[in-house]
Parts: sequence; structure tokens; C-alpha cells
Amino acid sequence: MTEPTETPERSFESNPTVCPFCGVGCSVEYAGNGSATGVEGPVNARGEICPKGAAAFDVVDHEDRLTEPLVEHNGRLVTAPWEEALDRVTDGIERVVDEHGADAVQFFASSNCTNEENYVLQKLARVLGTNNVDNCARLCHASTVAAMNERLGAGAMTNTLDDLREADCLFVNGANPAEQHPVAFRSYLLPAIRDGATLIHVDPRATDTTETADVHLPLRPGTDIEVANAIAAVLVEEGLVDEAFLAERTAGFDRLREYLADVDVAANARTAGVDPKTLREAARAYGEANRAAIVTGMGTSQHRCGTDNVHALLNLALLTGNIGRPGTGVNPLRGQNNVQGTSDVGGLPGVLPGYEPVTDPDARERVAAEWGVEPSPEPGLTEVEATHRFGDEVRAAVVFGENPAVTEPNATAVASAFEALDFCVVIDLFETATTAHADVVLPGSAWAEKAGTVTNTDRRVMRMRSNADRPGNARRDLEILSTLGRRLTDRPDAFAYDGPAAVFEELTRVSPIYGGMNYEEIGDGYQRWPRSATDDAGTNVLHEETFATGERTAPLRVVDPVPPADDLETGELTLTTGRVLQHFNSGALTRRSRRLMAMCGEDVLQIHPADAADRGIDDGDRVVVSNERGTVETTAEVTPAVREGVVFCTFHHAEPLVNALTGDALDPDAGIPEFKHSAVAVDSAAEVDAVESD
Ligand code: SF4
Repeated sequence: MTEPTETPERSFESNPTVCPFCGVGCSVEYAGNGSATGVEGPVNARGEICPKGAAAFDVVDHEDRLTEPLVEHNGRLVTAPWEEALDRVTDGIERVVDEHGADAVQFFASSNCTNEENYVLQKLARVLGTNNVDNCARLCHASTVAAMNERLGAGAMTNTLDDLREADCLFVNGANPAEQHPVAFRSYLLPAIRDGATLIHVDPRATDTTETADVHLPLRPGTDIEVANAIAAVLVEEGLVDEAFLAERTAGFDRLREYLADVDVAANARTAGVDPKTLREAARAYGEANRAAIVTGMGTSQHRCGTDNVHALLNLALLTGNIGRPGTGVNPLRGQNNVQGTSDVGGLPGVLPGYEPVTDPDARERVAAEWGVEPSPEPGLTEVEATHRFGDEVRAAVVFGENPAVTEPNATAVASAFEALDFCVVIDLFETATTAHADVVLPGSAWAEKAGTVTNTDRRVMRMRSNADRPGNARRDLEILSTLGRRLTDRPDAFAYDGPAAVFEELTRVSPIYGGMNYEEIGDGYQRWPRSATDDAGTNVLHEETFATGERTAPLRVVDPVPPADDLETGELTLTTGRVLQHFNSGALTRRSRRLMAMCGEDVLQIHPADAADRGIDDGDRVVVSNERGTVETTAEVTPAVREGVVFCTFHHAEPLVNALTGDALDPDAGIPEFKHSAVAVDSAAEVDAVESD
């Protein structure tokens, strides 16, 4: 198992661990020569990995890694000993808490770090006295979690990756798993498609996923509800609903049926910009399948009506009885490798570990019995709300392994807001757009330098193991966070951990959904939440007899369309954003990989040939994309893959920073920003230069 591979500076060894680059959770290990190799694991049973996984060590051994703490001195970050840096953090946070209270501090948890690290971070915030802790689930699937939690009682995949192979129909809404979750697509969805499952792809763009689709609905961004309601109307009109399931397991069908009777399918299709016949074809394929599974992504969730988008999809599953059975359900594909776990362990402002509401006195009492301190009953701020209040009621930020100056919407405004803070500490591997605003930067540990657990997209808790020592004086993240807990709170004893196993054991006592799990027994396998009375590995299919709410029935719901926040003025296009195969999130890690950069190059703006021709733009031209929030210059890729009236850019790059153009509108239930619909003007850069020089 362990084959040491020495380099002059660092020592590496091969231990099975979990890929850091997406929520699928493939098992990898060090393969020598700076590369990772896939190993047979719970998810990638044949050891298969994608190009991101293969390049995952590029970031570990990168020459730009931070190896010493940095402190701000005369407007510059300079190296400092750990003790001085930690003293600066202690003084900075204590001063803010003394003057403004604990609610003046915002904690950013990291969806790319372990359950144990995030558990300790949220505990630190709550023992200090605030629920102001959030993670970038807020920016990706907060709306999905809100809708699924409310209706079904669990904000996670209802089924497993394995049993997606059982589906007769895959309804992929706002996701591109062929590029964004490649191993999940190739190992689970593609076999079902090859066995005859119908793939319906609802997405404004034609992507690699669309190539295997039987039906493509290239909807206008922001019209998911119109499409889902029209499909629901067809299901009812054509008798494709499951009457027995509706009677036994749902409530509110009469009201929804009445509402859907007034839905004009053709009109909804026109609003969405899709062909009504194709929409009916999709409805029939979904409704006639014995087992139909919905797979959903950020194209669904990242809207000001993201929660309602998911509610509309939940209606489809409930109308047709496609829930609580293998090969069915509603299945959000999670982005970062531990975005599920970071939320599970309490890295959210409204819930304690295990999604127990902070407003629930019994839940607070259970936590207090373990921590010796009862958390505040007041829900905290989301990370987006907090950035809007920087310099006002929020005066300090503790940023753990995230890059909000790039990933938040209206990012130019967010970057300025960071300057209004009294104090900011960032724990990270590299200098980033966010560390530029920090008073102290603490060098943490990369994915391959730590142990602990992560929870993948289908609720599997798996072990990470160290494959490398740390560079210079970088420290383990768990050690840094525990040190801050001992320094900043009145309960230093509550942060005296001797490693991740001890933290995990405490987590199993505090979080009901992790109750009964055992760190050692996870071994090279996994334990899935919730635990099962009949299967040690956990419950595969949720909501079989009762919903996770404890109820036998789940409500059907009338969902009205919600217009996007940005009105399109004449000549403007809709900017939508997303990912490519080679990168994830802000690209702060994957852009360090020369291999991945060589595969995908720099960022481009995809624009339809008709829109390009209207503006005198040729493929490869420089273009200026602008609105009242900002201006971005990039290169045009003229392609019919993106629908007319829509342009697409990834959010992986700080330059050009596409989030300079995205807006402040938030979903009222989940606080998720409207990343997927921004009104922009697109012009040839040469034209703009010519006008400006006139
Ligand atoms: Fe890593 Fe995801 Fe690729 Fe698997 S599919 S190797 S987890 S990036």
C-alpha cells in the first residue's frame, strides 16, 4: 500500500484518499512523478478517474504554495512567525467581538475541506456566540436543499449513483454531468442510457451531455418553472400520473390539478423558447417510464426562484410516483467534493449539525450537552447577506479555504466590501483575490496532506488519508482551527482534539444523521447517511415507506413562474454561467495545473452565430461584455451550442471575472444568488476601442 517516493523538498506516499475536485468522490492516491492515479473505491469501482482527478497533485506540489503565515504591514502582506500571526488573529477578532458582539464576525466554511475541519469551524463560530457561518453551498444548491428539506425532509439525493443505472428515463435539468461529474456520468448514467433509458436534457446549451440525449429542451434561462409546469400539465391531461401513489403518498393533488388545468402548454413552451411538441414528447417519456429519475444541477438552482424551480421538479416526481423506489427520485449532483458534508455538519447559518434548526430548543440543548455552551437561537447571516453588510454590522471575517472575492455575485462590489472590514483572516494554500484583502493569511494544508472524512453527492461518508507532508511551515487545517477555538473562546477544552477521529466521534454524537457511524469501520469503504436498521452501509433509497419528514405523505404544490430580476433591454443578451470539465469553482486550485490549463486554455464567451453576426463579431474576436455592474473583456467563441439570445461564460477565472456582471438578486427562501440570468450588452472590443478613440 505505502510506497514512499522521495523528492528533495517533499515526501509523498501512496494512500487511498478522495479526489478533491467534485462531489462524485472518486478514490485516488499518489502515483509518483507528481500524478494521481485512480484506485478501486466505493464510487469508482474500476479505479476510473477524470482529467481533474489525474491532475489533482499539481496543486499540492505547486511552487506558489504558501509556506509561512503572512501579515499585513504597510499595505503589503509580509511573512511572519506563526505566533505573531495567531496573536494578530486573536487581537483582531477579540477587538471586534468586544466592540460589536460575536454577530459582527462572519465565518466562511469550506466545501473543499473535511467534515471534521468544518465541524470545528462552525463549533468555533457558535461557541463564540454567533450562527454567522455559511459555505458555498449557498452559491450552488442552497435552493435545492431548502425545497427538498421542506417537502421531503432531506436535502440530498433521494437515491444513489448506483441505482441511477436502474432508471428507464433520466430527466437531467440544468446539469451537464458528462463534463462536470464525468465519472458519475460514464459509470452510472451512461450504462443506463446504453441499456435503453431515455435521456431528456433540459439546458439552454447543447453540451457533451446533450450528445447522448434523446430529447433536448434548450430553454431560455429563467423558465424552468414554465417547462416543469407544462410537463406536469401534460402528465395530468394525458393520464400519466400514478393515481395510487397520489392517493397514498401525497396531499394537495386536487388543488394542483385545478391549477394545471389552466396551464397553456403551448404558451409555456413559447415563453421558454422550446418546441411544444418536443416538450410533450419529454413529458410522455418521463410519465410513461417505469422508473424515472430527475438529476438536477446549478442550472436549476442558481436563480432568484431556485427553490421554486426545485419545487416544480418535485411535483413531477410526486405526480408520477417516481420517488421512494430504485432508479427514481430527485438527485442533485453536488459540486465541490465536500459541499454535502460541510452542510451536514452545520456549516450553515440556520441549522446545527444534522440540519437541526438553531431555533429548536431541544436541538440546542443536545449540542450544549456536548459543547458546554448553548448556541444562539437566532439564525445567522448567509455569506451573501454578510458581504452586503461588510463594514456595517459585519466587521470581521474568518475565511477558511474559500475565495469569495471571486465566487460571490457582483464580485467587484464584494471585493470593495472586504476593504470595509476591520479585520479579515484567510486560511488558504495560495494568495488569492480574497487574501488581497486579508490582515492575516495562514498557510493551510492541501487535500493530499490531511486525514478526515468527506461526504459525497450520494450521502457516502468516506475517509481521506494523507499522501504528502506539508511544505515549509504550512500547518494542518484541523490544527489551525482547533488552535483558533482554544484562543478565541472561553472553552479551550472544547477544542482539545488529538486528530480527526476524535472530532468525528463527537460529530456522531451531535449530528443525528451521522449517529452510529464509526471512523475506523468506514475503512476503505463508506457509511451512508441516514444509517439503516438493516444495512450497515446506510440507507440507499430515501422515502420508501414514509418521507424523511416522518410523514407518510408529501405535499404537492402550486408553483407560479417568477420572472428573472434583470429585465432585458433592447439589444441585450442573457448571460448564463457554468463549468467546464477541467476546472471547478473559482479555479483557484485547478488553474494552478499546467496540464488542465493546457487542455482548456483561457476562458471564452460562447455566443450564437446570429447574435455574433448582428454585432459584427467573428469567432476568436475580443468582445466587451458589460452591464451596470461591470465590464469584462474576453474572447468570443461563435457556436450554435448556445441558444440565440443567450451567452455563456465559465466562472472559473479571476481574469476575466464574470461575476463582476452577475447581480445581487437572491432567492427569498434560500438566499441563493441569480447567477444564471444577467442582462448584458455584448460588443466587439475593436468597435468599442474605435468609439472610445473617436
Ligand atoms: Fe475527481 Fe470528480 Fe473527476 Fe472523480 S469525477 S476524478 S471525483 S473530479
